[in-house]
Amino acid sequence: MVETLSIAVIGAPGVGKTSIIRQFIYNDFSEAYTPTRTRYVYRPSVILNGNMYELKILDVPPISSFPSSSSQEWLDLRCRGVRNANAYILVYDICCVESFEYVKMIRQQIVEHREGSSSEVPILVVGNKRDLQRQRFMPRRAVSVLVKKTWKCGYVECSAKFNWHVVLLFKELLGIAVARGMRQNHTSIRLQGALQRNRCAIM
Ligand code: GDP
Ligand code: MG
Repeated sequence: MVETLSIAVIGAPGVGKTSIIRQFIYNDFSEAYTPTRTRYVYRPSVILNGNMYELKILDVPPISSFPSSSSQEWLDLRCRGVRNANAYILVYDICCVESFEYVKMIRQQIVEHREGSSSEVPILVVGNKRDLQRQRFMPRRAVSVLVKKTWKCGYVECSAKFNWHVVLLFKELLGIAVARGMRQNHTSIRLQGALQRNRCAIM
């Protein structure tokens, strides 16, 4: 049976969410900024160490907050599927402190608004635009310690522009999903053993 994992990609406008997804799936990057106005779903199949997984990646357009209830999610088309995602990628721009504040708020709301043990959903915080790191607002190590130790989330920096660490961040997220899936025995994220060797390919 092929496992399906739905991943919601959330972040402030212009941080590079669409660029990360398109680089991961199509090896494509555009300098031109086309704001994402409606929710878009990508469905790549991924082979990880000989096992195939279907990913449902939601490119979420700007939302003012994480939907606090199922009815709020259904009223707002942009949020469909966001509450029940199996995992989250929260993207910020390492040169833009406001985009980090946004990620901080969304992380807090995910933990508050998802019920019971589902609030322990895998979350990976991604610092994008690493190629512009001379303009970063905070040293990498300081952010990494805050995110990992205090927020208990994974942390990766990448550059969608140069396709640097883009595959790694998806592998990292699956790694967290594996660990959490084993603890919670969640059927759709039972990917045990999949990351023991370091291989990942897009079909
Ligand atoms: P979104 O609104 O979060 O989906 O952001 P986009 O993916 O549309 O990217 C916004 C802008 O940032 C575009 O002009 C991209 O070319 C640019 N961009 C995205 N990723 C990077 C990156 O890693 N480095 C640099 N220098 N620019 C990037
Ligand atoms: Mg976009």
